[in-house]
Amino acid sequence: MSGDSSKTFYLETFGCQMNVHDSEKVVGTLLQEGYRQVETVEEADLVLYNTCSIRDKAEQKVFNRLSDYKKYKKQGKTFGVLGCVAQQEGEKIFERAPYVSLVAGSASYRKLPEMLRQLEEAESAARETAGENAGLRDDASVVVTAGKSGVKSGSRKPEAESLVRITGLDDRETEDCFETEFTARTNPHRGYITIIEGCDKFCSYCVVPYTRGKERSRTSDSVLAEARQMADLGYTEIQLLGQNVNSYKDPAGKPGGDFRKTKTFAELLAAVGEIPGIRRVRFTTSHPRDFGHDIIDAIDAVPTLCDHVHLPVQSGSTRLLDAMQRLYTRDQYLERIAWMKSAKRPISITTDVIVGFPGETEADFNETLGLLDEVSYDAVFSFKYSPRPNTPSLSLEDAIPDEEKARRLDVLMTRQREIQTASYKRYIGTTCEVMVEGRNEARGQWIGRTSHNKTLNFTVPAIATPRVGNYVSVIVTSSFPNSLVGELVV
Ligand code: SAM
Ligand code: SF4
Repeated sequence: MSGDSSKTFYLETFGCQMNVHDSEKVVGTLLQEGYRQVETVEEADLVLYNTCSIRDKAEQKVFNRLSDYKKYKKQGKTFGVLGCVAQQEGEKIFERAPYVSLVAGSASYRKLPEMLRQLEEAESAARETAGENAGLRDDASVVVTAGKSGVKSGSRKPEAESLVRITGLDDRETEDCFETEFTARTNPHRGYITIIEGCDKFCSYCVVPYTRGKERSRTSDSVLAEARQMADLGYTEIQLLGQNVNSYKDPAGKPGGDFRKTKTFAELLAAVGEIPGIRRVRFTTSHPRDFGHDIIDAIDAVPTLCDHVHLPVQSGSTRLLDAMQRLYTRDQYLERIAWMKSAKRPISITTDVIVGFPGETEADFNETLGLLDEVSYDAVFSFKYSPRPNTPSLSLEDAIPDEEKARRLDVLMTRQREIQTASYKRYIGTTCEVMVEGRNEARGQWIGRTSHNKTLNFTVPAIATPRVGNYVSVIVTSSFPNSLVGELVV
């Protein structure tokens, strides 16, 4: 397959930033293997979906997409399901979507080149078999399990099934990270770097520890090398990624590693921020249990570290936090908020909240509303609790009816909107530095992002033309609950 640039692929990504960045690495790997990326399913030989299973709605999306596959399969296209739904559902995907040929979870992506080659070889073997058995074109099948157990078997299958089946399902076994020098970043100015994969927290509602494997960190040396390489290529903003970046543990500190090179998360953050050419460093996601004061010290000491922390709380009730197995209390969470509020620069704080967790009483919910008032978040990502396969909370009683979850979500969003309406007004009259992200022609405005991660749409005088990726100063003239409006300072 390598070097065969006539092979085309289409990749659609669902879900979080981790998935977006995984897709950049998958695209890089495919390009390296000789594929060419195309914009539509119609043009593609290989159609891949990088899936998300964090909530039921996200999971359903991929099956909706695949419902169209039959007509495409007749055109000779190959389908693959990657990511969390792949890992969660495994070979069951072949039953639900029989024309899928490849099912691979994120923990097996480092074997992707091998799986792609196996896919290619197995498909040509299946085509030959089908040719030898004239009249059985759709009947022949080759089953391959990449990674764990190698080639499994070849056999005939009923008409409705795929010719080829390849799986890469590593569960919580792998120790490796998906490191590749071929990442195909889509934005030339700001980019992600994964520093830790998987999760060992096992919050009672969450599929991630089952779908993304155990926690495994990259060495700080390799993270810094990638960051320096990005700076050399002209990137000025880097976002360090992980499901729980605060539990980063430099493998250099393991037996056999070089202890002198070991860095804590806060030290790594500061070191990335000190790379010449890097102007902004972000990180997500933080877990309150592992969030240390040293992160605030690093933000205080290194101006390039952005004044924004996303610290998901999930609930304002200690009783519910306990049921969610979040490993902190409301008071411990608020202690971390107090650290942020006493930082040298005002830090913008955002969070995630789940409403309608089993057993959530009106009193628990009111505690969450009270927390929103107390913290005054700059953004809240709120979700209705979605029961997920394999998770401990699936067996909890006292499920909250969907209409009640929807009501609570609505109340919470309305309250937060009021909070943001008031708090965004305080920026009016201030000058912010923004990275220029693009232009909204319809509104005649440029789009910028502040260090505290707010969208700031701005107009420019006729004499000036900002360039995407540049940093400019903008004076804020008005505000909305989710964005600011301003004018370029010339
Ligand atoms: N690792 C991060 C953390 O601990 O906050 C977040 C990971 S998850 C991709 C993003 C958010 O999805 C979580 O913070 C949580 O609010 C939400 N989430 C996770 N599982 C959920 C579920 N079963 N139902 C509803 N929301 C969920
Ligand atoms: Fe899921 Fe909890 Fe891990 Fe976040 S910390 S990914 S919510 S288990």
